[in-house]
Amino acid sequence: MNNDVEKVLYTQDQVNQRLDELANTLTEKYQDEFPVLVSVMTGAMIFTSEMMKRLNFKLNVDYVDVSSYEESSESTGKVKLIQDLSHDIKDRPVIIMEDIIDTGHTLKYLADLFADRGAKSIEICSLLDKPDRREVDVEADYVGFKVPNEFIVGYGLDFNGLYRNLPFVGVLKRSVYE
Ligand code: 5GP
Ligand code: MG
Ligand code: MG
Repeated sequence: MNNDVEKVLYTQDQVNQRLDELANTLTEKYQDEFPVLVSVMTGAMIFTSEMMKRLNFKLNVDYVDVSSYEESSESTGKVKLIQDLSHDIKDRPVIIMEDIIDTGHTLKYLADLFADRGAKSIEICSLLDKPDRREVDVEADYVGFKVPNEFIVGYGLDFNGLYRNLPFVGVLKRSVYE
């Protein structure tokens, strides 16, 4: 499995250190807010659970699953909700936990959806950000790392369902998907 990785961008130690910093920032901000932490399945699973352990305030955890209709591996911008929240978020602060912001369509869809439901506030916390690829106007409030326009796997991110369990953030070899 590790042979399919072109290079490691961030080691487990580097990610852990960055998560400590992000969690400290969130802990200061959300001390008396009682937010709902919404994990976007499946990519944000590891990121969410690693962050949760570091967040020192009262919170609820929930998750959604979304799929984007894809044509020839390019996102078409249409997003569909596969699994909805189990919490009522009306008047609740919401923190969306995502693995990576790419075109931005997924997070735009979710932020609009939660705003329609009357969330008190909505912030986005993403492990990774690929700013070069943005198609819609949405930015994360908290970002672990900016990454180049390459195909990233590991730390929850997959290719065809594989590589999510790699404990680091890496670039997949082109030969694997071309
Ligand atoms: P969007 O284009 O809507 O911002 O991103 C949608 C989803 O595409 C992300 O949540 C992520 O699951 C997937 N994605 C985007 N870029 C990458 C990447 O480099 N690697 C992997 N594994 N998934 C990606
Ligand atoms: Mg995702
Ligand atoms: Mg995926």
